[in-house]
Amino acid sequence: MSKELVFGHQNPDTDAIVAAKAFSYLQNKLGYDTEAVALGNPNPETNFVLNYFDEPTPRVIKTASNEVDSVMLVDHNEFQQSVSDIKDVTITHVVDHHRISNFQTEQPLFYRAEPLGCCSTVIVKMFDENKIEIPAQLAGLMLSAIISDTLLLKSPTTTDQDKIAVKTLAEIADIDYEKYGIEMLKAGTNVAAKSDQELIDSDAKSFTMGGKSVRIDQINVVDFEDIDNRKDDIKNAMTKEAADKNYDLFLVLVTNVLNSDSKLLAVGEPLDAVEKAFNAKFANDTMPLPGVVSRKKQVVPPLTDALS
Ligand code: MN
Ligand code: MN
Repeated sequence: MSKELVFGHQNPDTDAIVAAKAFSYLQNKLGYDTEAVALGNPNPETNFVLNYFDEPTPRVIKTASNEVDSVMLVDHNEFQQSVSDIKDVTITHVVDHHRISNFQTEQPLFYRAEPLGCCSTVIVKMFDENKIEIPAQLAGLMLSAIISDTLLLKSPTTTDQDKIAVKTLAEIADIDYEKYGIEMLKAGTNVAAKSDQELIDSDAKSFTMGGKSVRIDQINVVDFEDIDNRKDDIKNAMTKEAADKNYDLFLVLVTNVLNSDSKLLAVGEPLDAVEKAFNAKFANDTMPLPGVVSRKKQVVPPLTDALS
């Protein structure tokens, strides 16, 4: 069997990196020959996690077809979020927890999607189903991915299965997950260390909604002031990036991870559709979104509706 690469989405978050490592480990136990790689460098939160558990940083690839014929996707399926030459390789497996969009294959494949809070939770279930033990170090990584995706089990995307997985993994890794989780989330919020360009790019994803090209970034903070002070510069960077990359609409969701509230910054058109989506108004270019923390569940669906 020839080697396959396993990877999460571009601009990887902790789940994209960890789910690739976990799924690669599981598949190798089941007889495949895989390597977990990444489509970008880990963000500060993920670096904290990799350091904490003494886990090597994955190799970053730009293209896949130069080294393998087939690949396995985790934590994404939409082609515009995947490797640039995704159409030149065969997708043999997908394990994901997002909507399915802009995805098609020529060959039959293994596809598992569950509406859970984290892709790593789906993989925890697959370890269990296959009676493969999760090593302590990998349990720590997967625990971190679930904490990251669910904001310590507070996001509305959180399911009972995520909660069970966190407890199981915390036991295997022997970690006080609440204490560790706050430390980890804070490690990912150091916005002062990032340029405006880094801020608007590092957790951004592209979507097609009602024929519009929509870019949505999320910035985690522990204090909105960190962003308020730089709002004009950030908006200038968003305007320039939207022009360069032909985005109709560029949204940045600024999320306070300590109290689970967000503010939305937007440039482009149509802004009235954004106001309609959230039933709220922009004031000083900012829309308060109390209780909104999930791009996937609380931003993409209403925006898709409003733009369709
Ligand atoms: Mn992700
Ligand atoms: Mn995820």
